[in-house]
Amino acid sequence: MIRIENLIGGEFVSPTEFFDDISPLDGTVIATIPRTKNVEGAVTAAEKAQSQWSGLSLLQRCDWLDKIADSLESQIDELARLESLDTGKPHHVALNVDADRSVNNFRFFAEFGRNMKSETFEMPDATNYVMRKPIGIVGLISPWNLPLYLLSWKVAPALLMGNTIIAKPSEITPITAHFLGKVCTDIGLPDGVLNIVHGYGPEIGQAIVEHPKIKAISFTGGTATGKIVAATAAPMFKKLSLELGGKNASIIMEDADLEITVPGVLRASFLNSGQICLCGSRVLVHSSIYEDFMSKYLEQLQSFEIGPVINDSHRDKVMSYVQLAKQEGGHILAGGNIPDKPGSWIEPTVIGGLSHKSRTATEEIFGPVVTIHQFDSDDEAIQMANSTQYGLAGSVWSKNKGRVIAEKIDSGMVWVNTWLHRDLRVPFGGVKDSGVGREGGMWSVGFFSEAVNICVMED
Ligand code: NAD
Repeated sequence: MIRIENLIGGEFVSPTEFFDDISPLDGTVIATIPRTKNVEGAVTAAEKAQSQWSGLSLLQRCDWLDKIADSLESQIDELARLESLDTGKPHHVALNVDADRSVNNFRFFAEFGRNMKSETFEMPDATNYVMRKPIGIVGLISPWNLPLYLLSWKVAPALLMGNTIIAKPSEITPITAHFLGKVCTDIGLPDGVLNIVHGYGPEIGQAIVEHPKIKAISFTGGTATGKIVAATAAPMFKKLSLELGGKNASIIMEDADLEITVPGVLRASFLNSGQICLCGSRVLVHSSIYEDFMSKYLEQLQSFEIGPVINDSHRDKVMSYVQLAKQEGGHILAGGNIPDKPGSWIEPTVIGGLSHKSRTATEEIFGPVVTIHQFDSDDEAIQMANSTQYGLAGSVWSKNKGRVIAEKIDSGMVWVNTWLHRDLRVPFGGVKDSGVGREGGMWSVGFFSEAVNICVMED
């Protein structure tokens, strides 16, 4: 049994109340989590550490990021084991997706920081120097689907730019954030630079968003929670980055190369049991290749390994959409059942026969459930793809017109003939109800700093 504690000012401490962390694999209790309600101690610690941390040079902070990456990397199997334990995902996914990317987030921002150029703008009689000052204390709030992957995506650039941090991982998957805390204390990261508090979102999460000394909030989670975060933080003029939900389309054009398209679309449908905000949960297929695509897709689905979903209440939510799909006239083409074994399992489920405007095809399910729709023209594919409130990501599969179609999709990110192929320098984020702001490379640096201009008149 793992006992999770808060990391505040370099010490592991806890309030008196705890709650359980349950394994989605078999329903056993794997850890106890402190139910923190008050963020004052963490704010005081972060405030105390601020001048020392921001007083380091950018290059010194890059070295710290590399030290964190080195330490995580030297324990990468343990990191993957813990992530797999907490989320139920297969070990190879936890290792190759979560753990690998968590290390890389620190490595990437260390290297990115070393290569950052000073920004100047010349005038005939003056020079403008752009300084990037730290914001101060930043609040980082993350979800359960890619626990350390998404938290480290915020922690690394926030540290790079000289901020001190109060991080709150999801109460459903807190173990690897705790592991990161131990790594940082083991390598001697100055006390109070990274503080990690655990507990329920409406309690400690809300306390972070409300605290007047926390000047920026980077939030990744559901659209409904994002609205609450925005309603609290916006009137306080906090910097706000919101990475929210999605209902992404995988669009298979008539000239798609099915050799790469079928495995690619399957991966987009079911990786991490469909619990990635970027997953393609709507598959739009040109009617001329529908039969061929579907027979290959359903055949290859048989050998696609997935884990359980995150917990029983999420399983019930996902299954309620399978029921809704039937009421809306859908046919179950694969799956649709709860396997008879312990844990929060759902068979990978493919549903046909639904209108692309149905609730099942437009609301975020965030599980191993995909709806299939046919189209007859480019315009129809684009109109279907753009017919939800979300606009996070998407993929287009075509030999000749992928980019032309991709440019017409109202989403922050579109892949052509691939999916989840990530370059950490590029902008990441959504439009419409999928969020506000961008992260990645310069966009993260911009968010986690205040750009200040100094205009110097020539003699
Ligand atoms: P969630 O919104 O329930 O929780 C996210 C985090 O917010 C958790 O740490 C939670 O404790 C906290 N929280 C809850 N209420 C809060 C409040 N009032 N104030 C402050 N914090 C609060 O989301 P989830 O169920 O953990 O994650 C799944 C959702 O996240 C899906 O909608 C998915 O699409 C989205 N997501 C988006 C991205 C992206 O990059 N756009 C990435 C991953 C997941």
